[in-house]
Amino acid sequence: GSSGKFFVGGNWKCNGTTASISKLVSDLNEAKVEADVDVVVAPPFVYIDQVKKTLTDRVEISSQNSWVGKGGAFTGEIRVGKGGAFTGEISVEQLKDVGCTWVILGHSERRHVIGEDDQFIGKKAAYALTENLKVIACIGEKLEEREAGKTFDVCFQQLKAYADNVPSWDNIVVAYEPVWAIGTGKVATPEQAQEVHVAIRDWLKKNVSAEVASKTRIIYGGSVNGGNCAELAKKEDIDGFLVGGASLKNPTQQTLQPKS
Ligand code: PEP
Repeated sequence: GSSGKFFVGGNWKCNGTTASISKLVSDLNEAKVEADVDVVVAPPFVYIDQVKKTLTDRVEISSQNSWVGKGGAFTGEIRVGKGGAFTGEISVEQLKDVGCTWVILGHSERRHVIGEDDQFIGKKAAYALTENLKVIACIGEKLEEREAGKTFDVCFQQLKAYADNVPSWDNIVVAYEPVWAIGTGKVATPEQAQEVHVAIRDWLKKNVSAEVASKTRIIYGGSVNGGNCAELAKKEDIDGFLVGGASLKNPTQQTLQPKS
C-alpha cells in the first residue's frame, strides 16, 4: 500500500437540495472521524459555498469537475487575463476562491455520459495541479472491456494520459472505479480490486518512478458502503475509497464493520 493516509471521498454527484445538503452537513459535523484519515466531500458546484460555510474544517471540499484552463478575473468593469469566455464552465481559480482543495477528474460519468476524452482529462489535471488544486484522478474499465480481457490496457491508457500531462504526482490520488461497479450495487471483490491496484502501482513504478508508485494513494470506487468497506480496506493496495450513493446517507448511522 501507499505511505499516505487512508483517503475517503464522498461524491454527491448531481444530488441534493439546499435542505438535504444542510442535513447531510450537520450529520457530517457530528460524525466521529479517525485522526489518520483524509475525508473529502464533493458537492454539486452550486452548493459548494453553502457546504464550505457550514461544514467542519476537518472535512475538505472537492469539486466534481473543473475547466481545463484559466478562468477570467474581473476588476470593476475590466476583465483581466485571457480567460473567462467559457459559458457554463467553472474555473479552478473560482473553485479555490470558494474553498475547494480538490477536484474529481475523469469520472466515468464524465467520460462515458458526457464524452470527455483522455487528453482533455489529462490537460484538466495538469491545469488544476499547476494552480495547486489536488486531483482525484479516476480511471476504470467498462464491463465489456473487462470481459474482453482489456481491464489493464484501458486503465493504463487512462493513466498514461494523466502521466503525459501532469507536472508532478505529489497531489494526485488515483481512483480505480470499474464502470460496471459504479452505482450498480455490484461491488468489485477485494481480490478484483487488489489485482488492479497492484497493476496500477506497478505501472506507476515502470512509467513514472518507484517513489511515485510507493507514495501515491490508489483508492477504490464502485458500490462501496458501510457493509463492504472493511473487507476491501484490508487489502494491501487499497488506500481508500471514493463513495457515491452511500455518501448521501447519514454517516453516523452507517456501520464500518462488514455485516455478519
Ligand atoms: C462514484 O460515483 O464515484 C461511485 C463510486 O458511485 P457509487 O458508490 O454509487 O457506486
